[in-house]
Amino acid sequence: MTQQTADFETVRDWDNGNFVHPWEGMAGIGRNDRTFTEGGEGIYVSTQTGERLIDGPAGMWCVQIGYGNTEIAEAMAQQARELAYFSPFNNANSTSARLAHEIAKRTPGDLNHVFFTTGGSTAVDSALRFIQFRNNVLGLPEKKIVISRQKAYHGSTYLAASMSGKERDQGWLDQASHLTHFLPNVNPYVRAEGQSIEAFLDEKVADLENAILQTGADKVAAFIAEPILCSGGVIVPPAGYHKRCLEVCRRHDVLYISDEVVTGFGRMGHWFASEEVFDIVPDIITCAKGMTSGYVPMGACIISDRLIAEVSGDKSRDATFSNGFTYSGHPVSAAAALKNIEIIEREGILEHVRDVTPHFEARLGALADLPLVGDARGKGLLGCVECVADASADDVLALDKTVGAMIDAHCQENGLILRPIINMCVFSPPLIISESQIDQMFDILEYGIRKTTSDLV
Ligand code: PLP
Repeated sequence: MTQQTADFETVRDWDNGNFVHPWEGMAGIGRNDRTFTEGGEGIYVSTQTGERLIDGPAGMWCVQIGYGNTEIAEAMAQQARELAYFSPFNNANSTSARLAHEIAKRTPGDLNHVFFTTGGSTAVDSALRFIQFRNNVLGLPEKKIVISRQKAYHGSTYLAASMSGKERDQGWLDQASHLTHFLPNVNPYVRAEGQSIEAFLDEKVADLENAILQTGADKVAAFIAEPILCSGGVIVPPAGYHKRCLEVCRRHDVLYISDEVVTGFGRMGHWFASEEVFDIVPDIITCAKGMTSGYVPMGACIISDRLIAEVSGDKSRDATFSNGFTYSGHPVSAAAALKNIEIIEREGILEHVRDVTPHFEARLGALADLPLVGDARGKGLLGCVECVADASADDVLALDKTVGAMIDAHCQENGLILRPIINMCVFSPPLIISESQIDQMFDILEYGIRKTTSDLV
């Protein structure tokens, strides 16, 4: 609900004149015609003109339990009435302590130490800083390079952004490039003609091991990987990739950070995808987004007992991990996260995701037959269509770069909002989506792709 009523033209002027949006295209700043989402219910959002749209990306991969959940809103309000804030530095609070415990019960292996952050970027940043801290305490100050991958996205703070391998995001901002090494694309779709998936997998694992050997294991601190590269275009590495990469890391004393900012909290039918879906227990997991179903900001960097033991007590050299935020473990966010966990569990949402995923994946796979679609890929409730000028030739480059936006516009006219990324559209609907709503979503998407195809010829 808006504080004051204002006509839509005025609100759009405020937005254009005063609000700098994330990834703001500076050529068009102040002249945008954005869709205003003003309300939400279940899997739907409503716009300023009263249209009801299926929210294909669940906000920004985050609104797991759907919109308009009054139970979570009430839990936040109750916490705000009782204690809106406290300082997490020298004090503690039972809501955030309980949340740390509830999260630790759901993480793989010995990942039991939860460092709360304000979102995904600060979770990744904290993970990276913790590893720097660990190596300094262990007397390994040279062991600082982090290996990441092309197409990865890890956030927008300086260190996290430096680990992000999307070409477009690296263009105009400085990076801590002395701390990074990027591996080539792990997308099987771009493998050499005639190369088998098995050979591609071997090559990608060898890329990691060779990078460690060439850089020197004494200089490489960690490997950071999203289980699925989401913002990079829902890239699903070949089966077995993460497990084999973890083995490589273990051989060379390189830590493994699994960035589950998108895949955590149910997106793949489990609390965390690392162990249940990809069969790995990493050293650190980062999460955010679905943790509170996006109702309020929160993130976490979850560290293994083993790593904490290495740098604590007698081994600590009296060091302080001087990284933290005013809002670490914010009680209102913690109350939202606790209620979110309760709802996901009580409503059987993880089981529901596992039940509807085969249907989602089947409808997604069928889109690959459309002429404009080069690849239709995904896993869990994560999907992407990548458009090419000529699907038989997989000619990505020849295509109009706004094709994703064209598809999104046609879909919006028909009740579905997507996230366009250059020649791709990605989607990750609220986890409560039913099978018939999945059909509705894919019917509109197929229409949007066909309509865009006819616009282009
Ligand atoms: N890590 C991954 C894998 C992400 O997808 C994102 C955001 O999309 C982030 C980190 C950054 O999260 P935030 O935008 O909450 O800072």
